Amino acid sequence: MVVGAGLAGVRSIEALRFRGFTGRITLIGEEHHRPYDRPPLSKAVLLGETDSTVVDSDLDALDVRLCLGTAAKGLRDGVLETTEGELEYDGLVIATGATPIRLRGEGRQHVLRTIEDALALRERLVPGARVAVVGAGWIGAEVATAAARAGCAVTVVEAGESPLAVALGPAVGSHTTGWYAQAGVELRLGALVGTVDPDGLTLMSGARVPADVVVTGVGVRPAVDWLKGSAVRVDDGVVVDEHLRTSLPNVVAVGDCASWWSRRFGSRLRVEHWDTALQAPDVAAATLLGGEAVYDPVPYFWSEQFGHMVQFAGHREAGDRMVLRGDPRRDAKWAVCWLTADDRLAAVLTVDRPRDVVQGRKIVEGGQRLDPLRVVDPARPLRDC
Ligand code: FAD
Repeated sequence: MVVGAGLAGVRSIEALRFRGFTGRITLIGEEHHRPYDRPPLSKAVLLGETDSTVVDSDLDALDVRLCLGTAAKGLRDGVLETTEGELEYDGLVIATGATPIRLRGEGRQHVLRTIEDALALRERLVPGARVAVVGAGWIGAEVATAAARAGCAVTVVEAGESPLAVALGPAVGSHTTGWYAQAGVELRLGALVGTVDPDGLTLMSGARVPADVVVTGVGVRPAVDWLKGSAVRVDDGVVVDEHLRTSLPNVVAVGDCASWWSRRFGSRLRVEHWDTALQAPDVAAATLLGGEAVYDPVPYFWSEQFGHMVQFAGHREAGDRMVLRGDPRRDAKWAVCWLTADDRLAAVLTVDRPRDVVQGRKIVEGGQRLDPLRVVDPARPLRDC
């Protein structure tokens, strides 16, 4: 049985069948849709280029019993409680993803997680509309990009000292500040939102940001409330080992909701990105079928914002040394490498330099040392192949 009809859920089913499982599979999904991809919601869907992002997977051929519009409510050993009654299982995949955090206040606030969210927001992105986006993270930047392109007057309000400060640190995030101005987007940094009101935002300072449309992009929480009271251990997501096993026998967890133990980085990781939802299910399926496969990837994600392709691979720690590759003030294409104390590549961020991210990911995987003097030279590959 698979709970959560998103990408990780459907990939789990594909992996179970691919690995030869011929038993019954039931897919439980709270949404009324067949599984769909979320990355295009803040890109092609908001830009009006498509209305459907349904995952290209033949659920009929996979012989799946679909229970859409059905939410899981609780879990006991071998029994899943749902809004439609109890279902027995032999093996279970938890793939319930994450839900957006909302701010306080009586005003309408858009969030962006579902296809309905994207279509409702798109309708309101009309020329001249005053749009306030709260949060200059990945989603906020992509929404601001689409809103500016639609001819809206966009203000982005960010609590940190730069865009992407939480994800990349302010020193790197600040190199994206100019993109906002170039797109005609006003960026207010160090501004904490107090409430969302019917006519805009009130900041903690008392200042007001008038707006017709408010979009909140301040992060998500793993969708695991339904597991309260169960024997599944939860701590910032479902706690799983390197085989993606939960604390309850025959139950695995994958995707945005799972916090797994990474042997490679020696820490627990919960990664809210597409590649994890795509790849982890293969290991989860192997585990459910009695195998000992290990999930230990170098995390990867991308974002398309203000005409730039931003890509990241790896996992950075506070003590890693940041090395710029190119000059973001001068070069359109640049990158940042984070090196460990012994000059191993921990993570790489690239802006319109896709080769660097592909090579960088392999280098992180291989654990090789890099020559810092070479890293700073964008004309040379990170290392000779
Ligand atoms: P989800 O896709 O969230 O699916 C979980 C499903 O479980 C949902 O349908 C939910 O309704 C359902 N569910 C929840 N609770 C229950 C319950 N109790 N019972 C039954 N069903 C339940 N990643 C990138 O790497 N690059 C990008 O550019 C990028 N862009 C993104 C843009 C947007 C707008 C969003 C929202 C995400 C983006 N991501 C991106 C992240 C990526 O889409 C997610 O990491 C991925 O969707 C996670 O898949 P998942 O299957 O784990 O969770």
